[in-house]
Amino acid sequence: MELTKEQISALLGWYRENKRDLPWRKNNTPYETWISEIMLQQTRVEAVKERFVLFLKELPTVQDLSNCEDDRLMKLWEGMGYYSRARNLKKCAQEVVANYEGKLPDDPALLRKLPGIGPYTAGAISAIAYGTKAAAVDGNVLRILTRYFDDYSDINKDATKRQYEAVIETYYKENTLSKEDISDLTQAFMELGAIVCLPNGEPLCDRCPWKDQCKAKREGHLSEIPNKKTKIERPVVLKTVFVVMDETSVYLTKRPHKGLLADMYEFYAVDHSVPDEEVKGLMEEVFGTVRSVRKLPSSKHIFSHLEWHMDAYEVTVESLRDTGEGIVILKEELKDYAVPSAYQAYLKLYR
Ligand code: SF4
Repeated sequence: MELTKEQISALLGWYRENKRDLPWRKNNTPYETWISEIMLQQTRVEAVKERFVLFLKELPTVQDLSNCEDDRLMKLWEGMGYYSRARNLKKCAQEVVANYEGKLPDDPALLRKLPGIGPYTAGAISAIAYGTKAAAVDGNVLRILTRYFDDYSDINKDATKRQYEAVIETYYKENTLSKEDISDLTQAFMELGAIVCLPNGEPLCDRCPWKDQCKAKREGHLSEIPNKKTKIERPVVLKTVFVVMDETSVYLTKRPHKGLLADMYEFYAVDHSVPDEEVKGLMEEVFGTVRSVRKLPSSKHIFSHLEWHMDAYEVTVESLRDTGEGIVILKEELKDYAVPSAYQAYLKLYR
């Protein structure tokens, strides 16, 4: 399996003509590349675009990020989910300030040692921002190349990933490429995977620079490749969410300092299902006299490793009191608190 000069040159030409105008592509600085790569890990490009611009406006340098208050950082990250990414960004920024004078290193081996930076992100930062000859192989690259080579290897296996890293590194070793070529080529794979060789549904092969050589296309194997034998099964947590309020205020609790969604604010919730007829009694035990209970629509939130299936109730009480576990805030202040997007179905009713 090897990449050819013609193939790479066709991909580079295609990218330079067709790339989308995305805010992090304007300068390709190490800081901007790093922030965008972390944001894009589990969030759609459209959702990241606006967030990225706002983040850079508020925190334009590694130093600013390293000094950012946790609550402000969570607020800037709100809506993108996977908040541990934001916490690792700050930890990483602090290490970069302490050990690298505020400048991300260009060596992927050093980048990999920093919090929140795995092999793919290290390869992407060093290749895109510095033009280092480093492979950045993610699901996009695996989908494109297994299709191109008509390869049925399981793309969820590390061995497959390593195999394609070697294919790209071998090409780098045997060919002369400018820093700009390496940067563009790394982004070209991402772009081809995002807008042509699509992850869900039919790839748009007519628009692909490799359409005449792609082996899976020629053999009619596109519905079978990429092959993902290892299916991810997520445990389901049943939750009951209570939006507890009185006339002017609403009640929030802060999640524990460690673990899922650490330090974020959320509505009062229990990790089990509560029958309708028990809601009023349960709420009166915690919050005193209940004026009304209204059932809200059920919702679901999927994390990478588990799912929340939520039932929810709006509970209006006589007067909200401090239970010692949470905070009582004015309803209009709800927009100022970082509440995870897992609660989006309920947040949007009250913000
Ligand atoms: S020809 Fe089609 S399947 Fe093959 S790499 Fe291009 S878009 Fe993907």
